[in-house]
Amino acid sequence: MSTDQATQISNLNNRPLTAVQTDGMVTMQGRHWVLRRRTNIQRRCHTQALNLDYKYAYDLPERRQPLSSADQIAVLKFGGTSVKNIGRIRHVCDVIESVSKSKKVIVVVSAMGDTTDTLLKLANQCVTEPGVSGPDVRELDLLLATGEQVSVALVALCLRDRGIRARSFTGSQIGIVTDNQHSCARVRDIDTDLIEDLFVDNDVLVVAGFQGISENGSVTTLGRGGSDTTAVALAAAVGCKRCDIYTDVDGVYSADPNVVENAEFLTALTYDEMLEKAQGGAQVVHGRAVDLAKRYGLRLQVRNTFNPQCGGTQIDCA
Ligand code: ADP
Ligand code: ASP
Ligand code: MG
Repeated sequence: MSTDQATQISNLNNRPLTAVQTDGMVTMQGRHWVLRRRTNIQRRCHTQALNLDYKYAYDLPERRQPLSSADQIAVLKFGGTSVKNIGRIRHVCDVIESVSKSKKVIVVVSAMGDTTDTLLKLANQCVTEPGVSGPDVRELDLLLATGEQVSVALVALCLRDRGIRARSFTGSQIGIVTDNQHSCARVRDIDTDLIEDLFVDNDVLVVAGFQGISENGSVTTLGRGGSDTTAVALAAAVGCKRCDIYTDVDGVYSADPNVVENAEFLTALTYDEMLEKAQGGAQVVHGRAVDLAKRYGLRLQVRNTFNPQCGGTQIDCA
């Protein structure tokens, strides 16, 4: 990479960067993050600077002061499998209702079932040659973010029907600020003062996962499976020590239990063991969520929405 290219990237990202190239790898260091990738960076720089493999950039790079009420707040995340239909949403609300008896609750919800895939297919139908350029990423993010908007409103409606003081919010409404990288945005900051204010009149905040608002005001998405990262980012920002990820299996297994019949159930894993599984394709927890939890020392508990008696799998440093 030439100095000119480093400057070009630096200017476009509005961050001071330095680029160093060794053994076919380029490392760029900025104020908040470090990027590493192979030298095909050069080709991509010409087309869309910094739309690189963002694998090594960090979510929520700067720590905020924990809220004084952090130990009175629980953060629960429910995936698309848990909110696939209204019957399942009622199970989700049972869990939320029981936790809300002793704590204020931040609930993060994904889009219902395969909604994101359906929206993606619709977007591809609008493009003449989807395989070549793909849909415009700004428009695609605005579209995909609507999936989660549907599910949060439905969850809030069901909770309010039970007399629970619940309100739903998009990522933007709850103050999740990301960088400008459409379809793979990183969480930059979260407005925890706003969350504290919202808890004055509400007991449950239902937040749309997978999305935020960029510094230039566009709706962004965090990448497929990104609702886990939303939940961990919210837990980390408010200062919680734990985040519960509810899904459709009892927890983490040695292999996908829906594929491998006698996969072993794991009651506990280290962050690194879970990261390895996520990188190997186990989508049960988003790798970026595990990485973020590790950096903040936040325990993850993977649990089954439909089998609350099972304690699930604990993921932490032990
Ligand atoms: P959610 O909608 O809750 O986000 P996901 O489909 O993203 O759910 O993740 C849950 C699925 O992950 C399970 O249904 C399971 O098939 C799959 N999975 C893959 N690998 C594993 C594993 N090692 N342990 C548990 N589940 C796994
Ligand atoms: N709805 C998004 C997806 O399907 C985000 C998520 O489920 O975590 O990828
Ligand atoms: Mg998931």
